[in-house]
Amino acid sequence: MESRYYSVRMHADRDGTHLSGAERLVSEEQVESVVIEMLQRATGHAPSSLKISIDEIDGSRIVRGAMPNLVEVPVDDYRSGRDRAFQALLASGVAPEVAQSAIETIARGAGPGHANMRGAMLIDARKGERLEPVSARGVRATRMDVEPGLEDALTRNLVRQGLIHHRIREALVLASKVLAAPGIIAELCWSDDPGYTAGYVCAPGFGYLRIPHLKEVGDPHGGRAFFFMPGFKLAETIRFLEETPFLINKLGLIAGSGGKK
Ligand code: AMP
Repeated sequence: MESRYYSVRMHADRDGTHLSGAERLVSEEQVESVVIEMLQRATGHAPSSLKISIDEIDGSRIVRGAMPNLVEVPVDDYRSGRDRAFQALLASGVAPEVAQSAIETIARGAGPGHANMRGAMLIDARKGERLEPVSARGVRATRMDVEPGLEDALTRNLVRQGLIHHRIREALVLASKVLAAPGIIAELCWSDDPGYTAGYVCAPGFGYLRIPHLKEVGDPHGGRAFFFMPGFKLAETIRFLEETPFLINKLGLIAGSGGKK
């Protein structure tokens, strides 16, 4: 009999300010250990409010797909990092002015008043129009993970390449689902964590290009952009990203710098 699957979500804040969040899609057997892990991560931030929710997922709705290969691009600073990101977006079919504007928008804060958004911008890859229904929030990719049987192999492969930060695993899983979404031709991301400068461009042609510097240390801005190719049904794409449960059933190659950066 197929195992039951659960969406497990954690949100921790202090007086309304977001501190830590996590989201997994796991089998019944994994729920307990994942909840403990989330609890440990959240309490490290000393929150004043912590919520963990567990919701059963309809197993028949789970879509399965492959994880892209991860390749690390060595760059010396964020300027060359952004230049590499720009080139990668062009190679994936995003129009040059659209790619440039997305990079600039993330760099200055894509939300109202230059705040960071909770979700991603959804951008017409040809015309540059913003397509997300609520631009302050953006589109959130949720309910994605790796098949339980691949969990250990993924951790081993990442650790072997020195990619031990939990953000990398989470970003790789999120990017896998985004890549599987109908009509999405590329994704650009860097973190809003001031201490974390790495980000990526992900596209079907070359996979997940990890770029170690996309901003300077101390910069609080970050964000995500999903590039949408007109001609697909926008509502279906958004529904897939926000609602459809997705599990990775095939790992990609992981070619990091082996921790040598
Ligand atoms: P992070 O890598 O977690 O620092 O996130 C960087 C940016 O990506 C955030 O500022 C949000 O704009 C966006 N983001 C975070 N989580 C998601 C998500 N699940 N779906 C879409 N966008 C997200």
